[in-house]
Amino acid sequence: MRETAHKIATAEGKLSGGVPVRQCVGCRGRMEKRRLLRFVPTAQGGWMADSAARLPGRGAYLCSPQCIERLRKNKRYKTLSEALVATGAWPRRDD
Ligand SMILES: [Zn+2]
Repeated sequence: MRETAHKIATAEGKLSGGVPVRQCVGCRGRMEKRRLLRFVPTAQGGWMADSAARLPGRGAYLCSPQCIERLRKNKRYKTLSEALVATGAWPRRDD
């Protein structure tokens, strides 16, 4: 990822120590990227867990299964929460 293009990278920037940080879409908490699980939208309108954090696209990050419940009130990620509830499992990270 290039960081020279724009100054607006602060929303998905890094801590001063150089640790990548992302925001959980459930609790809005910002934390180290490696502690979050990434999900990406599929062409079919669903979501898939990006357990290796390598899929392209605008992903959504979640920090814990508790945040699935929080997501249910979020219109933008309602389908993600429904998909996760239907799956009934918190995907394992694969790294
Ligand atoms: Zn969270």
